[in-house]
Amino acid sequence: MSVSEVQDGVVVSLEYTLRLADGAVLDTSVGEAPVQFLQGRGNIIPGLEKALYGMKIGETKEVVLSPEEGYGERDPNAYQLVPRSSFPDDLELEVGMGFRMRTPFGSSIDAHIEEIRPDGVLLDLNHPLAGETLYFTVRVVDLRPATAEELEHGHVHGAE
Ligand code: ZN
Repeated sequence: MSVSEVQDGVVVSLEYTLRLADGAVLDTSVGEAPVQFLQGRGNIIPGLEKALYGMKIGETKEVVLSPEEGYGERDPNAYQLVPRSSFPDDLELEVGMGFRMRTPFGSSIDAHIEEIRPDGVLLDLNHPLAGETLYFTVRVVDLRPATAEELEHGHVHGAE
């Protein structure tokens, strides 16, 4: 069984390059294995997933996503001042340093150091790409039907 275009329940192998407004390449799979995901299950950002429907193997597309379609607008309230003592003593802190924080409920969130102050460390809890317009160049490398197990789990298994 073969699949001719991107639709729900299809495993997509995608080559992508992500640029920001200034043209700088932020991330690319070119020269590496393509990313694989199950279409229609929210495994990639919604705006990009939506733009892929109907694409055929070998097809290339430029996809421009507004912040709302990407990682959202920056939340000016998503800052938190934490005591220096909440970091290991021997860890040298720097502005821009990113790390993963565990919430009291066991999930984790990404944070960046915005400012190091005498009274503590100011963390920016916004996603690093919040507020950015995203410029994707994508190419569909391969398509295949998902297995029953993949459909049940909602994600790809055993990416080659
Ligand atoms: Zn699974």
